[in-house]
Amino acid sequence: GFFSRTWWASSYHHTEELEAYLKGVHAAYPSLTHLHSIGRSVEGRDLWVLALGRFPTHHKIGIPEFKYVANMHGDETVGREILLHLIDFLVTSYRRDPVITRLLNNTRIHIMPTMNPDGFEATKVPDCYYTRGRYNKNGEDLNRNFPDAFENNNASIQPETQAVMNWIKNETFVLSANLHGGALVASYTFDNVTGSLKGYSRSPDDDVFIHLAKTYSFNHASMYKGMGCDRQTFPEGITNGYSWYQLEGGMQDYNYVWGQCFEITLELSCCKYPPADQLEKFWRDNKAALIEYIKQVHLGVKGQVTDRNGNPIPNVIVEAKGRPHVCPYRTNEHGEYFLLLLPGTYVINATVPGFKSMLKTVEIPDNTGNFSALKQDFSFSEVSIRSRAASCPKTPLYQDLELASAATKPTLHILVLMTVMLVAFK
Ligand SMILES: [Zn+2]
Repeated sequence: GFFSRTWWASSYHHTEELEAYLKGVHAAYPSLTHLHSIGRSVEGRDLWVLALGRFPTHHKIGIPEFKYVANMHGDETVGREILLHLIDFLVTSYRRDPVITRLLNNTRIHIMPTMNPDGFEATKVPDCYYTRGRYNKNGEDLNRNFPDAFENNNASIQPETQAVMNWIKNETFVLSANLHGGALVASYTFDNVTGSLKGYSRSPDDDVFIHLAKTYSFNHASMYKGMGCDRQTFPEGITNGYSWYQLEGGMQDYNYVWGQCFEITLELSCCKYPPADQLEKFWRDNKAALIEYIKQVHLGVKGQVTDRNGNPIPNVIVEAKGRPHVCPYRTNEHGEYFLLLLPGTYVINATVPGFKSMLKTVEIPDNTGNFSALKQDFSFSEVSIRSRAASCPKTPLYQDLELASAATKPTLHILVLMTVMLVAFK
């Protein structure tokens, strides 16, 4: 590796060592990495992100963006350290290991080892259970601090949260995971519900989320066994977030609803802040799972929406029939869309709101091993089509939907009918 194994095992990387490590990696691999800070914590610490890939500094059309975020709870430390191992493994395997080489040539991987550096530094006495270091300097739980899709979140948005929200807005993230500790399970959206639903809060992409969570748990040394910690058990090492416990303002629901990014929450250690001499084993237990999970960014279908002259059309709604998102997924500034879908037959609907829809039936193969989703472009036969920018307010969208659903059903039927007629007349 980049540094000696004994150095790895000696201790945790505190702020200065973490920055020195990331700068060292970037200096050693300048064309494969891009190091930047997406903002600052309450106490002014940089929120570092290392982007890795063949084109690390910017998005390339067709290359999906992936992210790992760790140490959002400052006293949950395993993710912070194993992401440093992951960085070392990726850079040293490039052009040596054919799988990692293809992965980095076809994916842009963003790694944020700590979202809450203040909480980490505030944790003076490592504890397996709860400490104040969970929170940021203002005493806020960052994983309760995001806008919520189901109810009003009254928490004031913290600098760390705002930095991540801006980052999500500025990159076309497709897949993500959020690394925590204090349990051993892969948990998936939704974490919250509307009303009095019991037991399970299912998203329209529940099948995909189950697959994503199982990809992690079954490639982990023991998570798939479902033994959890203490007396908790999780069949196959996965759980719906809400089934485990309800929470408001979490980051994974935010990514899915407003970020067009599928995120799961990985609980990686029964002990939140274990002794440093266990970190090497945590890396070994998670290594294959971390890599296999990144490959899933190539599930499904992707493409570009253009007009007759080949100019990209941003803000076009592109969704798979039967799985509408409450805030519809739209093309980015390059007219690109990415939809994570399991192998099967789907109808993909590209709609310029108020103007026209195009439907295409696609047969999605299992192609994560090819490091590319199925490619399906849409070309509208007109020129200079404009699609208005998305208006998706940060209000509880599902709550609105439920309250309005009884009143708007006839309107929705008319909308569907109009879409069908537009397609028929095309
Ligand atoms: Zn946590």
